[in-house]
Amino acid sequence: MRTDLHLTGVRNLGILAHVDAGKTTVTERILYATGMTHKRGEVHDGTTVTDFDSQERDRGITIFAAAVSCAWDGHRINLIDTPGHVDFADEVERSLRVLDGAIVVFDAVAGVEPQSESVWRQADRHGVPRIAFVNKLDRAGADLDTAVRSIRERLHPVPLVVQLPIGAEDGFVGVVDLLRMRSLTWTDETVEEGPVPGALLDEARRRRRLLEETIAELHPAALEEFCDESSISAATMAAALRDLTRTGEGLVVLAGSAYRNRGVEPLLDAVVAYLPSPVDVPPVRGTYDGVDRERAADPELPFAALVFKVDSAATGRMTYLRVYSGTIRKGQEVRDVGARRAERIARILRVQADRQTEIDKATAGDIVAVIGVKAARVGATLCAPSAPLVLEPPPVADPVVTVA
Ligand code: GDP
Repeated sequence: MRTDLHLTGVRNLGILAHVDAGKTTVTERILYATGMTHKRGEVHDGTTVTDFDSQERDRGITIFAAAVSCAWDGHRINLIDTPGHVDFADEVERSLRVLDGAIVVFDAVAGVEPQSESVWRQADRHGVPRIAFVNKLDRAGADLDTAVRSIRERLHPVPLVVQLPIGAEDGFVGVVDLLRMRSLTWTDETVEEGPVPGALLDEARRRRRLLEETIAELHPAALEEFCDESSISAATMAAALRDLTRTGEGLVVLAGSAYRNRGVEPLLDAVVAYLPSPVDVPPVRGTYDGVDRERAADPELPFAALVFKVDSAATGRMTYLRVYSGTIRKGQEVRDVGARRAERIARILRVQADRQTEIDKATAGDIVAVIGVKAARVGATLCAPSAPLVLEPPPVADPVVTVA
């Protein structure tokens, strides 16, 4: 994997979901689609590479302890693990702090579930831009429109549904891409692109129109084009969807069946097209000596990173860092200002699904694991000794709400 990707080509991504909605399966399929794994794992037979514990122990490597990197369409996607269960609300909070965007997975039968609501609110408080993936479209009783209605009514975003499913339940075979007005259909191992099936053409046009109208209402440039041309080009729609995703004014909704490996490629395309890179999000804030400081995602600025997970592995204590600014090289000393300690970065690793690659440096925007840091805890800031700061703490957690 290239390590010199420009910052705009990086997506620090989380997958948020109610337990059982399919987060593990979606993650697994993403790793498969991006060539990070060569065997398709199945959750039910226990072969998924992203299920940690036993497999992780057996193989003696960190498979999905905190973050894995993969590549799609010239972009590097760092997938940051976010626990799905409410018991891990603190961990969700920590991981939300270090990601720049998220896929929220919903079950096409159950729609919005209590935990989907709690992670949604947490993501709101952290200002994390999101796209939605309505999963399990192959299940009996699955219906995209009903799921979207439940998302709108319970979470209150403006849904921007960019696909129309082809077939339903067991017969779900593909989607119409409403931006390009092309169909994508999946067989076991392949995806085929073609014209919109004749039987769906009227419905696809109607939905495309609806999408154009909704986008025009929300986005000035799209509105202008809509008024001038009485339609919006795919390119303008894509640019508008990117802007609306990043401001949170609209929620791009895609659909599929992760289990059947249907819908994952367009989901990755949407991650790259709509979710922000580290330079598209506001600078991170911190303080030192009572003075507020800001750090933009710039490799030339002094180094500052946040510890978001600490793991013990065969290779030693692995400290997962989100680098916010600057560049760190192996062997360099950093400061844990909060603990008033010096730490040394002995090795830097990029963690992939089935291996770790040692790299010489990590720069602003990166998610890496480092070895050599002896005491820094989760939540600690590591920074250049010459430019100390403590990154601001995460927002206060919501009180626990019991949903009947
Ligand atoms: P997680 O708890 O959100 O990580 O959910 P999992 O990925 O473990 O999936 C929960 C269950 O739903 C497993 O039995 C999966 O095989 C199943 N599942 C996941 N995606 C799909 C799907 O697209 N269709 C169907 N029918 N089942 C799915």
